[in-house]
Amino acid sequence: MTQPALDLVIAALEKIREKSGRRPRASRTALAHLQATPVAASLGEAGTSPTGRRLQARNKADLLAAVRERVGACTKCAHLACSRTQTVFGVGNPDADLMFIGEAPGADEDQQGEPFVGRAGQLLTRILKAMNFSREDVYIANILKCRPDMPSGSFGNRPPTPTEMQTCRPYLVEQIDIIQPSVLVALGAVAVEGLLGTRATMRELRGRWHTYNDIPLMITYHPAYLLRNQAPSEKRKVWEDMLQVLERLERPISERQRNYFL
Ligand code: SF4
Repeated sequence: MTQPALDLVIAALEKIREKSGRRPRASRTALAHLQATPVAASLGEAGTSPTGRRLQARNKADLLAAVRERVGACTKCAHLACSRTQTVFGVGNPDADLMFIGEAPGADEDQQGEPFVGRAGQLLTRILKAMNFSREDVYIANILKCRPDMPSGSFGNRPPTPTEMQTCRPYLVEQIDIIQPSVLVALGAVAVEGLLGTRATMRELRGRWHTYNDIPLMITYHPAYLLRNQAPSEKRKVWEDMLQVLERLERPISERQRNYFL
């Protein structure tokens, strides 16, 4: 069982104790069942009514806030904890149908505490707009919550190492467990390596459906790649991947969107 689910169980047990004045008891079978219960189930079947949806979104926001607090205090990678301005947890709708995953914060994100706010982030926002989404509709997070450190005086960003990604990955897993998006999009080969542990070229990975824990996963180029390579054919590939995402989400697609070039 993950930490957020455990927090829910502890809160429920404390309520029982308060109400009954007795210590709650649980059979071995019940405990085994709890251990196998995913977070989504512990959030309840709240998604069926508007009130339920709001409740579920609030629960998810509370659960994410608890993880954000742990991330904010995390020093598991001592070198990154020393060099970061702040951690960059994630942004967007805690109840999003669509979640984007990038690799790590860059200099702009480290300064502002929000993922995808630099030039690549602005391009991602434009892609979202073309899909008829705002940043508030979706959820955006990175594999790494701290900016990979750079030698002092040097500019630019470096990709995270496999060890750094493995160390930070459990936080992302918790985020996905809580949000339970209908579709995931991984941006770039590094994000794929961090999420799935798979090393492959984008040529092999992109443009088709993969899965992560039974959630459909689309892999496409990182927006930074499109900034480096302005060829219309590359932009079109990303847009075609996004059209597949819209179809999977059963969103209406206009003729204009079908013909759109980023
Ligand atoms: S990268 Fe992740 S695991 Fe490492 S210190 Fe930052 S928050 Fe902690």
